[in-house]
Amino acid sequence: MAGDDMQMLEATVACVNAAIAELGIRDDMRDVIIEPWRELTAGLPIRMDDGSVKVFQGYRSQHNATRGPFKGGIRFHPAADLAHTRALAMLMTFKSALVNIPFGGAKGGIQVDPRKLSERELISLTRRYTRSINHILGVSRDIPAPDLGTNSQTMAWIMDEYSAIHGYTPGIVTGKPVELGGSEGRNESPGRGAAIVGRLAARDLGIGDSPTVVVQGYGQVGSSAARKFVEDGAKVVAVSDISGGLYNKNGLDIATLDAFLADGGAMADFHDGERVTNEELLELEADVLVPAAIEGVITSENAGDIKAKLVVEGANQPTTPGADEILADRGIKVLPDILANAGGVVVSYFEWAQNIQQFRWGLERVNNELEQTMTAGYNAVHEHSQSHGVTYRSSAYSIAVERLMRAIELRGFLK
Ligand code: NAD
Repeated sequence: MAGDDMQMLEATVACVNAAIAELGIRDDMRDVIIEPWRELTAGLPIRMDDGSVKVFQGYRSQHNATRGPFKGGIRFHPAADLAHTRALAMLMTFKSALVNIPFGGAKGGIQVDPRKLSERELISLTRRYTRSINHILGVSRDIPAPDLGTNSQTMAWIMDEYSAIHGYTPGIVTGKPVELGGSEGRNESPGRGAAIVGRLAARDLGIGDSPTVVVQGYGQVGSSAARKFVEDGAKVVAVSDISGGLYNKNGLDIATLDAFLADGGAMADFHDGERVTNEELLELEADVLVPAAIEGVITSENAGDIKAKLVVEGANQPTTPGADEILADRGIKVLPDILANAGGVVVSYFEWAQNIQQFRWGLERVNNELEQTMTAGYNAVHEHSQSHGVTYRSSAYSIAVERLMRAIELRGFLK
């Protein structure tokens, strides 16, 4: 199946099915790999500030824990539902397997627009959700993290509620504030990881060590990717946020832009660069394109006009399956999301390991270990892609599915 209309779950399942076929895995193992182990839907009543009672819907999908405890973020979003949560949970299983960390995959969510709730309502909802799912969580069972609409503060509330029931348990969530046992370097990690694998691929593609880079979505992932690219010698020529982008073919001054934004400036008012729309930005002349905003921005409509030689998927699923085929036909390489943004879950793993040992790492150690883990992930994908003559995405799924299958066999689940 291909096309722009394919939903997130179908797109992930299609990649997994292709890997199952390539690896020659028995057909009756397909559902063992794809189906979630356990899912929970919870009605979450809370008292609103005006005295009324409202019931929100919460979810946790635990996809697979063969290789380690379930791991994945919690999303507070009006469009959160079980199908979307399930798709994201599956993505996490293969992301963790690909970068070879001892986690499975899960995802959670509450159908709510967090911006419409007061802080008291938000705390109350987060506590109710935690109470409703606490029996399926655990440091060796399932470890949530932040996602869209949640942040380190949300994780602190979850840790507090869980600890009230089970005793002090910092390792129950990752992405916590550093003061409560969060890891140094966690916020920058998905973006840094994307830049690390982007630089390695650019070198292997003969683009060299100073590529020109365009970043769509100058948020947590996009801005830290831009900073790391610059740190490693690249020239970031364009960046954007939801209001549009800035382009300077000689390279933007990222440090000055960061200081300007930190002072409350709007990207549109920054003095450097000409204004471009988000659509124009995707089609700019540059070596590397990093879509780091939202899903589905590179489609069969615009894939023919992308000029970059390499796409590094900072966001989850920014390329539709239809666009993926067009890019592959045009010889444009795509570093898939399950590799490119895996730095987040890698440093989550470091945070969990630090919490279990009650021992803190410095930033340098976190960044060095991140570099090693991402480099190993990239090397595995690159070598498989070279030896099998398939795309990076196809290679990434084959490696991840093979590791999962091996763990299933070794644990003797079906014996
Ligand atoms: P964020 O909210 O910090 O940043 C998103 C950026 O994209 C902002 O600059 C926003 O203005 C911009 N944006 C939003 N809608 C846009 C649109 N329609 N067009 C162009 N720009 C738009 O979010 P983030 O945490 O950086 O996450 C970005 C993506 O990366 C998401 O797909 C997320 O699922 C994925 N991701 C995040 C992490 C993480 O740990 N933060 C880890 C892995 C993957």
